[in-house]
Amino acid sequence: MGKLNKNYDIIVIGGGPAGITLAKMLGGKKKIAIIRPEDYSMIYCAMPYAVEGLFPLEKTFKKDSLVTDAGADLIRGTVVKVELQNKKIQLEDESVFNYEKLIIATGATPFIPPINGTNLVGVTGFKTEIEMRNIMGYVEKGVKNAIVVGAGAIGIELALSLNKIGLKVHLVDMAGSLLPNMVDPEMAESILEELIRSGVDLHLNAKVVELHGKEFVQQAILDNGEKIHFDNIENCNISSQESFSGMVVFATGMRPEIALFEGSDLEIERDGIVVNEKMETNLPDVYAVGDCTQFYNGITKKTYSGKLATNAVPMAKVLGFNLLGQDRNYQGFYNGAATKVGKYYIGGTGLSERTAKENGIETICGYSEVTTKFPIMPGAKLVHLKLIAEKGTKRIIGAQIVSEEPVTDKIDLLTLAIQNCFTAEKLAQLSYSAQPYQSFYPAGNLIVMAAEEILK
Ligand SMILES: Cc1cc2nc3c(=O)[nH]c(=O)nc-3n(C[C@H](O)[C@H](O)[C@H](O)COP(=O)(O)OP(=O)(O)OC[C@H]3O[C@@H](n4cnc5c(N)ncnc54)[C@H](O)[C@@H]3O)c2cc1C
Repeated sequence: MGKLNKNYDIIVIGGGPAGITLAKMLGGKKKIAIIRPEDYSMIYCAMPYAVEGLFPLEKTFKKDSLVTDAGADLIRGTVVKVELQNKKIQLEDESVFNYEKLIIATGATPFIPPINGTNLVGVTGFKTEIEMRNIMGYVEKGVKNAIVVGAGAIGIELALSLNKIGLKVHLVDMAGSLLPNMVDPEMAESILEELIRSGVDLHLNAKVVELHGKEFVQQAILDNGEKIHFDNIENCNISSQESFSGMVVFATGMRPEIALFEGSDLEIERDGIVVNEKMETNLPDVYAVGDCTQFYNGITKKTYSGKLATNAVPMAKVLGFNLLGQDRNYQGFYNGAATKVGKYYIGGTGLSERTAKENGIETICGYSEVTTKFPIMPGAKLVHLKLIAEKGTKRIIGAQIVSEEPVTDKIDLLTLAIQNCFTAEKLAQLSYSAQPYQSFYPAGNLIVMAAEEILK
């Protein structure tokens, strides 16, 4: 290995939410360095709204002082080699650092399917500053068409943002309904109508199998035989014989960033580095947290995808507390998450009816619908809840909400119920509040009504 620079108690590879959380917890208490290559850590969740122009792109940059003010060193660089036996890492500039403990927080990268044409100009994933700048650059250069592949939260948010700034947008997903990992199809119906109303062209039950073009992407072929052509446009100021008229953005999920450890003794499976409840890997003094790990669902205890910042941060906290001498365990993914589609705020937590069935769990569901204020109040909007319970025990295992007002507080309350193994009986006894501007009448509560329906 190259020249030795410095010794640390702890080195964290990765400056995303997991790495920053560890810096905040351990900085000043341990000699710790966070290593990341990019100029800025990003507020990924806000990226679609920067594309829409709600704020300048630079607002999605996190301040380095989040790390340095906490007393952690921030090292700009890419780790290119890790000697797990000798406890050394090497950066691309050949500098070498020794550590006592290594924390891998390398995150995940957008999955781009292995199809023809993904090397064409205009084809991109959507995670890094560079990818965001590329997309915004294409728009500035006059590109007027976009295909967004993947109708999960990121894909829909980006599709709507591009649509709002005047592009003709096609949204393609191989699933038959929108947000398939957040809500069941019947809860997605109003969302689908809203998306169609917005002008986005939907292609469900369809897979992009090929992209065509010479230098620039020009056409996408779907597995149902459909072809999406980008129309040529005038005034496109990219100098080329061929016109640059459209982009294809893949929002088809994330794959753990584990290239550094391939061929090492570290236990790695399909979803990432295998860790236990304490975020320990199979190797002593090597830990992993966040999107680069494989972990289990808190309900089924089976391996489950959970590539969310709201999982990465609590994982990092468990590890941070343990490295400070506590004894904490991570409970698993519940995947409470939310998005917004036009006038609808949507949230989901726990298992959907579909994923419960896939896990061999028989379900019973309760639905409720109330207004967000007393119905006689101005501005009262509808809110719908689907509550999913295990059939035998009536344990609550999932919840989905579609509302015209924000839903994260309700989703978080329901996640708490799921985490604590509440049954429908217990949830039906929820002691709730009511006020004309903020809830339905005291006579009925959204959550209690759905729980009562399960009990019926
Ligand atoms: C557009 C978008 C919207 C999202 N919206 C939401 C949302 O609304 N809610 C939510 O909970 N989650 C959301 N997510 C997911 C969330 O951003 C991720 O789950 C989260 O960033 C994971 O954090 P992490 O720290 O594990 O990894 P990451 O944030 O991926 O960070 C990994 C870090 O490791 C670094 N790294 C990798 N390899 C090396 C190497 N060899 N050397 C040095 N450094 C390396 C990377 O450069 C990066 O700094 C969104 C993601 C995207 C892309």
